[in-house]
Amino acid sequence: MDCIFCKIAKGETGELLYEDELFVAFEDIHPKAKVHVLVIPKKHVESLDALSKDDKSWLCDYLLTIKKIANQLKLKNGYKVIINNGPDGGQVVHHLHAHILGGKKIDSLV
Ligand code: AMP
Ligand code: ZN
Repeated sequence: MDCIFCKIAKGETGELLYEDELFVAFEDIHPKAKVHVLVIPKKHVESLDALSKDDKSWLCDYLLTIKKIANQLKLKNGYKVIINNGPDGGQVVHHLHAHILGGKKIDSLV
């Protein structure tokens, strides 16, 4: 399977901002905000839709890790977390990822 985010997670390409047993974070290659970081599980999971109850063991940690990384990025004035899912959701890379966007006010869709 040729997945760019799996390669990044394995340290085969790119630079990591954060790594632990389950997750890595790195800068988005085409930043849409002053700070734009992606947080992914090391395990290949296609999307939010592909998750099941079997993933319960790490999902809570995923959210807490996203928060921890946002704090480490010193986004004291707030930030936005986005997970795109499927074609209508604008998902382009088919390895689950959360976008952390901040550093200035981000316009809201909702
Ligand atoms: P999405 O539309 O949610 O699938 O977003 C995929 C994101 O991955 C986009 O914001 C891309 O700029 C970003 N991206 C794609 N390839 C890379 C890469 N090699 N390193 C860092 N970010 C990437
Ligand atoms: Zn992958």
